[in-house]
Amino acid sequence: MVEKKPEDEKNVFWGSEVEKNLRIAFDGLPNDVPVLLFTEGEGKDVLNGAARELLRNFNGLSKRIVLSEFDLNSEEARKRNVTSAPTIIFDPDRYCVRYLGVPYGEESRTLVAMILLIGFRTGNMSEQSRRVIQKLDAVREIKVFVSPTCPYCPDQAVNGVKAAIERPDVVSLEIIDIQSNQEMANRYSAFSVPQTFANDILIARGAQSEELFAASVQKLEQQSVFIPETEAEVIETDVVIVGGGPAGLAAGIYTVRSGLGTAVIERGALGGQVATTPIVENYPGFARVPGKTLVDILVSHALEYVQIFQGEEVVEIRPGAPIEVLTSRRRFLAKALVLATGANYKKLGVPGEMQFMGRGVSYCATCDGPLFKDKKVIVVGGGNSAVTEALHLHNIGVETVLVHRRNSLRAQEHLAKNIFSNNIEVLWDSEVVEIRGRERVDEVVLRNNRTGEVHGYPVQGVFVSIGYEPSVELAGALGLELSAEGFIKHDSHHRTNIAGIYSAGDVEGGYKQIVTAMGQGTEAALSVFEDISHPYWSANRDEPGDVLRI
Ligand code: NAP
Repeated sequence: MVEKKPEDEKNVFWGSEVEKNLRIAFDGLPNDVPVLLFTEGEGKDVLNGAARELLRNFNGLSKRIVLSEFDLNSEEARKRNVTSAPTIIFDPDRYCVRYLGVPYGEESRTLVAMILLIGFRTGNMSEQSRRVIQKLDAVREIKVFVSPTCPYCPDQAVNGVKAAIERPDVVSLEIIDIQSNQEMANRYSAFSVPQTFANDILIARGAQSEELFAASVQKLEQQSVFIPETEAEVIETDVVIVGGGPAGLAAGIYTVRSGLGTAVIERGALGGQVATTPIVENYPGFARVPGKTLVDILVSHALEYVQIFQGEEVVEIRPGAPIEVLTSRRRFLAKALVLATGANYKKLGVPGEMQFMGRGVSYCATCDGPLFKDKKVIVVGGGNSAVTEALHLHNIGVETVLVHRRNSLRAQEHLAKNIFSNNIEVLWDSEVVEIRGRERVDEVVLRNNRTGEVHGYPVQGVFVSIGYEPSVELAGALGLELSAEGFIKHDSHHRTNIAGIYSAGDVEGGYKQIVTAMGQGTEAALSVFEDISHPYWSANRDEPGDVLRI
């Protein structure tokens, strides 16, 4: 065993600002965080080398992080039943928390959160989640499958860490990077991330709010609704914005700058669809920027102004004065509400799609693409998303074929021409009529809609990229009027048919670009400000607004 001492010299691994903030955060920890790293093949293997470099750099940040390194063939590895490398064990005298793989990329957020939570020895769960986890009366062995390119994964992994710290007597956790543990991902048929198992039962596909995670772990099955107990915390504010994508975050910046108290509530990852867009080339001011980088810039700007309640799901909205917004964790009372709930992936609706979801059928190339390296996949669709996803998969070494139901692409010419210059095969006039397989996808059945010919086409993955459907569950439950296409009806001030409730972004339909969503969020915020200071529904208003001009 080699015990590492924190290094004094400047650490060049981090950007200077990130390094400074991490040092401050870790030095403030009240307890040491013992970290045991198991690797093999000193200097030879990329993943093991990356794990060593990453953890040695973390070790160098603070004396609170106490790193011990072992070989996979050591006595310590046998004693702790470590069978793969790299494996990282955290504070094993107190908790049962392991990371199988390298927590880099998006997963570095999980690593930072783990160190902080373990250093404070707190799960830092909400009161609602804690009550559920405290009810556990039997062992829960949790496995969360993640990938370093998945922006949704850290939230779910950290949910697991919190539960393992809250109930170390019954909860154990393994966070498993699918790229370095493909055999295990195969065994669990986990071909999308995040996927969560408890006692080997699949309890969640995708990231959950902390409360839904806790309930799923307790009940050993996926839960979709969590209603908080009556004494949930109450927050009074001027404006509640539901949705933390470009529209919601832009709206938040503008309402706060107008002097209105504002809460943004986002159940999943911030940034919406942009967070998983590999490269954005049409955001003015940035010629080429990874979607996630754009989101990080936007979120840090928004956080300078607005409080964001992330990982919290809105379960009910009660119109009135005030408007009541009930989440999985608390109750908000507000004068105005902006619904910027965005859109969900559209499904193909063919046999096999639901059965193989997460087992070869995917809706996110950024998240799941690395699992299909050197394998053959199809991307279905002919729009900007399908073309962007096909190019991304091709660039990371996935054998990619685009399947489109017409004989020309809908995507912008600038994007479309890259398909041909990269020699990506396109199957024209082709529709997927079925997805087949045993444990996972083995083939799709394609029909040529010109000739009527139907044939099986062997592939290991199907990336569905055929557009989005507006997320209008909350709007529907509220009684908001929707257009024939299912979008929220609104006037030119983004007001809906219910006083005090506004809409913005993809949930309104229209062009569905990042900049247009931000513009709609901005307009909605300015309308909220004008209406709060001079309400359009008040009888004394001089000039009534144009209501429902659609
Ligand atoms: P989209 O533009 O609506 O394109 C959807 C594609 O899927 C179309 O080619 C459509 O075929 C096909 N499709 C729809 N239903 C299908 C089905 N059941 N079976 C087979 N194919 C089906 O959607 P998107 O590409 O996801 O883009 C959504 C919005 O985001 C657009 O406004 C787009 O411009 C924007 N976006 C922009 C960028 C960018 O600018 N870089 C990137 C991504 C998205 P048809 O052509 O036959 O209708």
